[in-house]
Amino acid sequence: MKKRTRKTKVLIIGAGPSGSIAALRLCELGFRDFILVDGKKFPRHKPCAGGLSPMALGFLDRTGLSRVLKGRGPAEMNSVRLVRPDGREDVFSTGLKGYVLNRKIFDKLLLDEAVKAGAEFIPGFHISDIFLDGSGNAAGATDGISAIESEVTVICTGGHNRLLREGVFPDRRPLRRIVSRIGWWKGFDLPDGRLEMVFDRDLSPHYGWVFPEGNGTVNIGICLYEDRLRGKSLTSAFESFLERHYSEKLKNAEPTGPAYSYPINTSGSVGTLYGSGMLLCGEAGRLCDPATCEGISMAMESGRFAAEAVYGAYSSGTLDRAALAEYQRLCAGAFDKRLRASSFFSALLNMGLFNPIIDFSSSRLGKKLLAGLL
Ligand SMILES: Cc1cc2nc3c(=O)[nH]c(=O)nc-3n(C[C@H](O)[C@H](O)[C@H](O)COP(=O)(O)OP(=O)(O)OC[C@H]3O[C@@H](n4cnc5c(N)ncnc54)[C@H](O)[C@@H]3O)c2cc1C
Repeated sequence: MKKRTRKTKVLIIGAGPSGSIAALRLCELGFRDFILVDGKKFPRHKPCAGGLSPMALGFLDRTGLSRVLKGRGPAEMNSVRLVRPDGREDVFSTGLKGYVLNRKIFDKLLLDEAVKAGAEFIPGFHISDIFLDGSGNAAGATDGISAIESEVTVICTGGHNRLLREGVFPDRRPLRRIVSRIGWWKGFDLPDGRLEMVFDRDLSPHYGWVFPEGNGTVNIGICLYEDRLRGKSLTSAFESFLERHYSEKLKNAEPTGPAYSYPINTSGSVGTLYGSGMLLCGEAGRLCDPATCEGISMAMESGRFAAEAVYGAYSSGTLDRAALAEYQRLCAGAFDKRLRASSFFSALLNMGLFNPIIDFSSSRLGKKLLAGLL
């Protein structure tokens, strides 16, 4: 017997970009019978490079949210130093708008918007189980002490969700997991507005990076398919990467805290994002670019789609699978082509076609095409 049970129409689990945007959008639509929970108290640390891509910035612009970035000092990125697997390097201007903002700040800004708009947020509520009713519909969740019963459960728990994924998620495709490790340093010598991407052979088809966060702070990280570690630990793969590429620069820099390892769930297409009574958003639904690991934009966009689909279902009085399938349709329309194209691009890199691809994408025509695509 649980100590306390609450009831709500919609339970949103996870207050990262997908969950907070879902909550904010429900409020904007005038729908208040929902609860947003997160296992953490905010502001909370999230291992992430904090790169706000042109897609993420486009979303913030379209939804009137770019104002939350004003005065928060996100570091602008306007040039890239790109190191190829054969060691050659190029520096070119991106011609694209991009920012870096630490996720402790960014996620709190989005959550604050949702709470200001009227969302009820319960921090420190870590879901250990999603329970199903007699017909197999998601009917709420518990942290082991209290329970929240709901008619719809919107799962926004990010990449760290093996327990829930293997238990209740409708997407049963095998997952080729990407693992990452990231740390922060002060005093690292990096020209203003510069980001670095290092396509080290050991990480192929993925890469390592240096992202500027402003005030002389950078984050440095690597991401790679877990099976590429070939028995090595992620920590030692990260240390070897730092030694190979940044041993000199790191002599004058100070780490500002520990490094973190974190999984990244990506996919080469949009999978099943809804089940009976449940929707999966953001990285819980593997909505993350398989080549670049950029996931913030799709997390926010999918959260907004989820809110609109749920609102539509309640407005039409038909809260069944078909109504929730609207969410799948919206996500497939917005993300499927992109995930497929990125997966194709990643496969080409893996086949050793790095140089022709990079030569093309840094050419004027390539840049034009890229800007158009984005
Ligand atoms: C090292 C690294 C670097 C990255 N760099 C970038 C980048 O530069 N740009 C970019 O666009 N993307 C980047 N990504 C990907 C990006 O971080 C994610 O795709 C994005 O955060 C997904 O958002 P989300 O809302 O789905 O989940 P998250 O942001 O992960 O939020 C999930 C939330 O759910 C909560 N939660 C999880 N489980 C539970 C539970 N059981 N009960 C209650 N609460 C729970 C967590 O506390 C968290 O607050 C990076 C990822 C990593 C790991």
